[in-house]
Amino acid sequence: MYFYTMKRALFPGSFDPLTLGHYDIIKRGVTLFDEVIVAIGINADKSYMFSLEERQKFIEEAFKDEPKIKVMTYEGLTVDFCKEIGVEFILRGLRNPADFEFEKAIAHTNRDLAPIETVFLLTSAKTSYIASSIVRDVIRNNGDYTKLVPSSVRVK
Ligand code: ADP
Repeated sequence: MYFYTMKRALFPGSFDPLTLGHYDIIKRGVTLFDEVIVAIGINADKSYMFSLEERQKFIEEAFKDEPKIKVMTYEGLTVDFCKEIGVEFILRGLRNPADFEFEKAIAHTNRDLAPIETVFLLTSAKTSYIASSIVRDVIRNNGDYTKLVPSSVRVK
């Protein structure tokens, strides 16, 4: 007898706001996994440009026609949240060597904490330079941010 277990991945981040870089990784993630859960981490010590509700709405709206993509919020350790909802994979994007070094330390730590595999996707060439911090900077300075984010992300 053959039992198929759903392969689900968590894509954690702040998404302040969602960018075309995140969008690319999530879209490609669903070709590998049965379900991708975009998980917005809540960090009480951090201040954000967009409220949690806004960040969540941007993601939900961007993927409203994708039944395999879910949006959730969580507090605490990413691996604890994975265990809580029974997810076995963490999905992360890699843009450059700095991302690699940073992600390597996190992935090794997570592996010490729980038997959860981190899967990395290399960013698409077209979106490799995009970062939420740069998008926020463009917004703050009244630049045209719309080229860097999905159409669901708009400043009121
Ligand atoms: P954090 O606040 O944890 O840095 P981010 O929202 O910036 O979260 O990023 C979440 C994930 O998205 C990370 O794996 C990051 O490497 C990835 N990511 C961010 N921007 C891009 C991009 N332009 N291309 C590919 N991956 C990206």
